[in-house]
Amino acid sequence: MADDSIFSGEEDIVRDAEALLEANSTQVPSGAYGRLLDRYKRLFVQLQRIMRMADRFQLELAVTSQRLEELSQIDVVTGIANRRSFNTAYQREWKKARRDGLSMAVSMIDIDHFKRFNDLYGHLPGDVCLERVAGAIDSCLKRPGDYVARFGGEEFAAILANTDTAGAQVVAEKILQAVASLAIPHIGSSYGVVTVSVGIAVDMPPRDDPFDLTLLRAADEALYEAKSQGRHCARVRLGPFSPRFPPPLQ
Ligand code: GH3
Ligand code: MG
Ligand code: MG
Repeated sequence: MADDSIFSGEEDIVRDAEALLEANSTQVPSGAYGRLLDRYKRLFVQLQRIMRMADRFQLELAVTSQRLEELSQIDVVTGIANRRSFNTAYQREWKKARRDGLSMAVSMIDIDHFKRFNDLYGHLPGDVCLERVAGAIDSCLKRPGDYVARFGGEEFAAILANTDTAGAQVVAEKILQAVASLAIPHIGSSYGVVTVSVGIAVDMPPRDDPFDLTLLRAADEALYEAKSQGRHCARVRLGPFSPRFPPPLQ
């Protein structure tokens, strides 16, 4: 609708009202004031309807953009958090642990022989496997401050806030069992089912650079140790870890 036609109804009414005011009262046809008032009332009702529609659209827009924001944090294959939201959570928990002088543990969790799984069973069953493994890992991380995300490929990363080495090892053991208990057949693995390996790094409080993710890289080293020592097991690295760059002032 062109701008100049939006208010044409109102403009007509104003023009007719002015004509009535300027006219000699003897020239005003009977009922003219009443008809003008009726036209004004109809327009007023229309205006109210438009205002209600505008309010509804605004609300729908807010709900949609909130939903889009949530979706942008989620990995489409597994339905858990994606790496983007992991980075935000890492920095948040890191700052909290630093401020309160608390321990922080991170785990890298990687599916064992997943390339073989894809080669043996196909890429789509591979995606289903990823989704089920993500669900099993997620079910082991239920404390406030726990956070798990798909880090990339067949790797997951977890943050365990205010958790020491013993605590992180208990969680890792739970994850190892939860995934094996899914009993997803994998003839390419010596365990006969899909398993994961876990690398843990703990520092108290974290001293790495939160933007450099040193703690996470230490967890990755521990993960490779677990891989080289038979898979389906967890290994730990204890801090302090030297940051590659000095941490920014907190
Ligand atoms: P390792 O036990 O040493 O971890 O061996 P691996 O085969 O699991 O590790 P590798 O890094 O050699 O292979 C990872 C494979 O993960 C490669 C790719 O086929 C598979 N992969 C990565 N992302 C996806 C995905 O989104 N869907 C599926 N189906 N497969 C994926
Ligand atoms: Mg792997
Ligand atoms: Mg990997």
